[in-house]
Amino acid sequence: MIKINEKQFLSDLEALRQIGLQPDGAVHRVGYSQADGEAREWLMGRLRELDLEPTTDAAGNSFAVYPGKKELPYIGIGSHSDTVPYGGAYDGALGVVAALAVIEALHTAGVRLNHPLEWINFAAEEATMSGGTTGSQAITGIFDMVVLEKAAWDGRTVREHIVGAGLEPDQITTAARPKGSYAAFLELHIEQSDRLEKANLPIAIVDGFVGIRRYAVGFDGTANHAGTTPMGVREDALVASAPMIRFVRDLAVELGIVGTIGDFKVYPGAPNVIPERVEMIVEIRGLDSAVLDQAESIIAKEAQKLGGRFDPVVEKPPVTADAVVVQAITAGCETLGLPTLTMASGAGHDAMNMALICPQGMFFVPSKDGISHSKDEYTSSEDCLNGARVMLETVIELDKRLLSSQ
Ligand SMILES: [Zn+2]
Repeated sequence: MIKINEKQFLSDLEALRQIGLQPDGAVHRVGYSQADGEAREWLMGRLRELDLEPTTDAAGNSFAVYPGKKELPYIGIGSHSDTVPYGGAYDGALGVVAALAVIEALHTAGVRLNHPLEWINFAAEEATMSGGTTGSQAITGIFDMVVLEKAAWDGRTVREHIVGAGLEPDQITTAARPKGSYAAFLELHIEQSDRLEKANLPIAIVDGFVGIRRYAVGFDGTANHAGTTPMGVREDALVASAPMIRFVRDLAVELGIVGTIGDFKVYPGAPNVIPERVEMIVEIRGLDSAVLDQAESIIAKEAQKLGGRFDPVVEKPPVTADAVVVQAITAGCETLGLPTLTMASGAGHDAMNMALICPQGMFFVPSKDGISHSKDEYTSSEDCLNGARVMLETVIELDKRLLSSQ
């Protein structure tokens, strides 16, 4: 019987929380910082205790391979141990420690799977390094070297941070893994929303990552004196744009997506001048490209009807989870008798990048009150344990299923 060493797993989670712990309970372990380096070293030390030889690539990702019975591509398991500035103890950390616990369970039982398992602790997942997911972008070959010269969260460049961690930023492209390196990738993460808690369920299976589209929508009017221009002759850009705000909200509700106008500027922006120009960014997110297409054309038409401009500026396609991985997670939860719900991830994760080079899947455990990126981030020990248990069962299932699908 292969079992998670529950006491060890919880004590590892606690030991990791101590690294970067602040007096108020926040965990401050920003990517490439000293605390981040300490956490990585500590985790790699734990893997050495399991007779593994951890390695680090040029991007600062850390790895350890638990050999399989056969010469097959890896099943990757893991997450990230960096946090946002003054963040919590579970975002990323849980997935990394659970992956370690899975390897420890197999090691203790003396069991090898068919596939080698690769434990991955991704570098700088949080958006502290301009854009985030630095490590998984490097692994999947999409890291843009321009980012090195951009400002990180504290104003220093990303390059300075990477150099500060003892790494060579110009070598970062050597971290790219060829397609075919991984048979699959699996990530456990906290939900960062409150749907599981509200439904009183322990596990959410992620069926995909939402696509993101952003549109620059603008309205033009004529600036004039706010005191002397009669109401009847005004060309007020703000008044013309106003219906758009409500429209986007109602459309999102109607189509079952999310829609936000979080960036809205009025020019010239003086209290005594009639607005001559309004610029806003309309953002929509959803899992179904066809629905996003539909929303896009409706918003474009509405902008035109209101006399505005409409220009697409960002389009990130949705990423669907791999069916075999989803089936393995489902089977793992069934084995453990844990009920699940299925949801799309509204946030990006390393697994989303990994989709570029291998089949991937992800599952969530509850976040208390849906809080994350905060010292108040909390997931109960039982929920954390469920995550590790599901991870173990899923890996065992996945190993079998991938073999028979080859
Ligand atoms: Zn995370």
